[in-house]
Amino acid sequence: MSRSSFSGGDTTSGQALAEAWRRFAELNQRYFRGRLRLERLSFNPRFRSTLGTFSTDGRGRAIQLSPFYLRLFGWAELEKVLLHEMIHLQLGRAGHGAEFRKLESSIERDYGPLRPRPIPAQAHNYIYICDRCHLEFGRWRPLKGPCYHRGCGGRLWRKRGRSLTKSDR
Ligand SMILES: [Zn+2]
Ligand SMILES: [Zn+2]
Repeated sequence: MSRSSFSGGDTTSGQALAEAWRRFAELNQRYFRGRLRLERLSFNPRFRSTLGTFSTDGRGRAIQLSPFYLRLFGWAELEKVLLHEMIHLQLGRAGHGAEFRKLESSIERDYGPLRPRPIPAQAHNYIYICDRCHLEFGRWRPLKGPCYHRGCGGRLWRKRGRSLTKSDR
């Protein structure tokens, strides 16, 4: 996990938002001839499995980004999420149809793959470990009832929960 590219500090601060707008402007010039128009760019502290969203409503076009993902992987990775949402902005909708994939792959030929990195098990609220192969699985919510690792048939046991580590944070 690389944190080197993250300048630190609170992601809700003006500094992080200014950096997001700076990258938006740069990517807009580079891939959209500067034609994209965006009314709102913000960080949503509730985002966990969601890395970014594009939406449009009465208040205009909006992109929201995950400060959690930024803290995990830094700007180089969050920029890929931003660029993904900018493709939605260009097309004016949320789906990943043929038109989306066409524009995405033309951008990826220059930029590189936009696929986001998986959230490591340790970053989740709950960690489960397989008693047969010892693989770890992260979950945002506790599993209900006995669960088994489909890959090997082993039983999953809870390793730690947020409630147990709260005092550490
Ligand atoms: Zn998308
Ligand atoms: Zn297993």
